[in-house]
Amino acid sequence: MPDRAKLLRQYLTQQIELGGAEVVMPAAGSVRAAPVPKATGPASASVAAEATTTKPARLELVSTASAKWRENAPAVPGPGLTVVTELPAILGDPLGDAPNLDAVAELIAGCRKCALCQTRSRTVPGEGDPAARLMLVGEGPGATEDQTGRPFVGQAGQLLDKILEAIECPRPTTYIANIVKCRPPQNRKPLPDEMASCLPYLHRQVALVKPKVLIALGSTAAEAMLGVRKSLGELRGKVHRWNGIPLVVTYHPAALLRNPNWKKPTWDDVRIARQLLDS
Ligand code: URA
Repeated sequence: MPDRAKLLRQYLTQQIELGGAEVVMPAAGSVRAAPVPKATGPASASVAAEATTTKPARLELVSTASAKWRENAPAVPGPGLTVVTELPAILGDPLGDAPNLDAVAELIAGCRKCALCQTRSRTVPGEGDPAARLMLVGEGPGATEDQTGRPFVGQAGQLLDKILEAIECPRPTTYIANIVKCRPPQNRKPLPDEMASCLPYLHRQVALVKPKVLIALGSTAAEAMLGVRKSLGELRGKVHRWNGIPLVVTYHPAALLRNPNWKKPTWDDVRIARQLLDS
């Protein structure tokens, strides 16, 4: 007697490979077919007909309480800093009126507010789901990002992709941005005036995306958002609030490449953020 769950799993894997049905693979989750949409007229006739075949019209694997990331996940810690930032400078500014992320990206593309514009190849505004529930903020573009105009596409970005997969928040479901949108020469840390000039863009992006949870990647992003000079050790392990949105601080993925000992604490941090998403 074939293992039905195994067969179904094989089928779902094929669907992913063929780019067909909408499928999410959990670590060890239960499998169910999504309800077939009700036939309401000729347009849905094919969907209804499909439902009478042996294959369900749409399949999805349901993330269950037994998801791998939940195993030994740390408890959600208590509150940290609460930051409410007023940005009078952007009132009446085109940025304050930018209706969507593309409009913000256009303003960034033409930005000459700081010296980084003189050495950039491309601006890197950010990318992802415009309605993401999870938004991540890094420090600033590196060489690959400067060439492509996309955030976190180098080696650190590949590690970040894996981390996001592991908490069942694949990159396309998130929004990823940086504190500064242009590469600092030689990948140096952005200067305070560069961060101050660029922060209004991040504000507008967060206001448009309206994420449920923010993650600051590394101390530069954390300090810039929270407006403090503190070590990463002091900022981790708390749920801060940035303009009302829970903010979790963790290591920058590039730091994890240099020091693998920080992978475990990072794994804990992102699982705290993941639980906040579910709360
Ligand atoms: N590091 C960052 O902080 N941001 C990127 O986009 C890439 C590397």
